[in-house]
Amino acid sequence: MDLKDQFKCRNCSFELLPKAARCPSCEEPVILNGSTLKPTTGYSLYGVARDIPEAIKRDVRRECGCGCVIDGKMIVAYDHFDPQFHLLKYQHESAGIALLCPDCHHRKNGSSPQLTDAQVKKHKERPYALRKGKATYPQFFLPPGPERFRIGEVVLKGNELILQTKNQVWLRIKQPTEDFEPVLVDTFLNLEHGNPLLHLSDNVLTAFPSEHFDFVEKASSLKAYFDRKVILHLDRSDSRVMDVKYAETWIDGNYLQVQDSGIYINGHLIFGGGDFQIHATGTITLNLDLMLQSKLLGETFPGLDLIW
Ligand SMILES: [Zn+2]
Ligand SMILES: [Zn+2]
Repeated sequence: MDLKDQFKCRNCSFELLPKAARCPSCEEPVILNGSTLKPTTGYSLYGVARDIPEAIKRDVRRECGCGCVIDGKMIVAYDHFDPQFHLLKYQHESAGIALLCPDCHHRKNGSSPQLTDAQVKKHKERPYALRKGKATYPQFFLPPGPERFRIGEVVLKGNELILQTKNQVWLRIKQPTEDFEPVLVDTFLNLEHGNPLLHLSDNVLTAFPSEHFDFVEKASSLKAYFDRKVILHLDRSDSRVMDVKYAETWIDGNYLQVQDSGIYINGHLIFGGGDFQIHATGTITLNLDLMLQSKLLGETFPGLDLIW
């Protein structure tokens, strides 16, 4: 027998997936070398592998507004509701998959289910994040949280550090009043005309989803995209450091970019070109307008206690 024939249904000749235990066409059990095959762990009854292809995941995120379809939380699992995973016949399809937060996922798939496939299906039709125009990530920095921020080559550590223009505060990093709490961070990423993409306020992250927006959390890395282009890349592989690998935003009519080589405003390097740290014992306010002017004039920053 040709190897290809082994993967054909004996009953109806339908071409089977290699791990199929049942034929998706005629529903007959698959028999190989005289014995009935059992479903393989990690595969559906019909042989579809559990891993969802990236392109399908991206479609699911877009369809759900990057949040749990029930309550909009951004820490998510991919839940098959139509059909359930073990009954998947041919391939994963975004229409049958919803984003659920760990709580809702547990309410549906835990030992005493309170959520049905039908309810999830109904929510997927009008997902919370798209209905409300926002998805939230509560407790973005969990205690004890990062002690330091690294932006490009710049390490920021202090009681309170503020980066702002004349009219707008872009970044505020504040030490907590209690030891066991994480640092508090306020910042935002906006589009050119001020449309918000992401806000972080007192460590609660809010995203404003659209068909252009995407948000992916994988292990210690977190990335936000606009039109498939990275607009934010954070890395937490060292739990004491929040590494800002990349960020871009419009602030007060200026285009601000954070890269490995430093911080740029309207294409001018503001920080970078060597390792230095900013340590603040009190509140330190860095005025981006002044820095931009200083940089253009080739001067150092006025009134700042910088440790190089
Ligand atoms: Zn068949
Ligand atoms: Zn939820």
